[in-house]
Amino acid sequence: MDKGHLLYEGKAKALYSIPEQNWLWVEYKDQATAGNGERKESISGKGQLNNLITSVIFEYLSSEGIPSHFIKKLSDTEQVIEKVDMFNLEVVVRNVAAGSFSRRLGVSEGTVLSKPIVEFYLKDDDLNDPFINDAHVTALNLADEAEVSELKTKALEINHALKKMFDKADITLIDFKLEFGKNSDGTILLADEISPDTCRLWDKNTNNRLDKDVFRHNTGDIIPVYQEVLDRLTQLNK
Ligand code: ADP
Ligand code: UDP
Repeated sequence: MDKGHLLYEGKAKALYSIPEQNWLWVEYKDQATAGNGERKESISGKGQLNNLITSVIFEYLSSEGIPSHFIKKLSDTEQVIEKVDMFNLEVVVRNVAAGSFSRRLGVSEGTVLSKPIVEFYLKDDDLNDPFINDAHVTALNLADEAEVSELKTKALEINHALKKMFDKADITLIDFKLEFGKNSDGTILLADEISPDTCRLWDKNTNNRLDKDVFRHNTGDIIPVYQEVLDRLTQLNK
């Protein structure tokens, strides 16, 4: 398998073609961003940790019967994934109030929600990824009604599986962002990454932040924190 040409370079990853395959070669980068890219820093080791954590999580989800684009880990910073046609949406699941939910609705961070919420955001950096509802999604042809329903069901199934895994690692899954796409058969697959960059993870006993909020709020070094998440998840498989 050969690495082809660069197709796309984003804030956190670079995607390369793989000649004669409907697969992509992904490189996880060390760049950390906050405030929609307003603050940018290179943090040595971050790409490796997010690649390793995402690989462990996608392998776990597959063992729970939840398929994704993940094919295999190639190296500490690289993966092979199935190329999909992405929905231009960020699908956020929340179990506990935090971040934009707390700011928008005036609900204190840490308030446990009586049931999980699935939200849609338009993936558009120029507009700051605005919050949209189901009617916006269908009216703008971002997904049809059946797809909206499937995305919500899948998001809640993934939440159920992830909560179980993180709980065993003494971590509370506060909220997270997912991205989905359709493969060449038209099957909806979980795509992108699931890492401390895209989840809020709090230590179950101390409520210490084990995620990107450490970078967003400048409260410390993310490397030991992300390493702690990887170590706890890896320990579960032993
Ligand atoms: P961003 O584009 O937000 O800066 P990244 O640096 O993480 O984010 O870039 C990765 C890009 O790859 C994202 O735009 C994401 O939607 C896209 N992507 C993720 N998984 C797949 C896939 N399986 N097929 C095609 N594109 C994907
Ligand atoms: N999130 C993400 N990418 C985004 C926006 C949000 O991965 O572009 C994740 C974020 O890390 C958190 C969840 O989605 O786990 C909910 O984020 P929120 O809407 O609270 O936004 P924030 O306050 O983090 O900007």
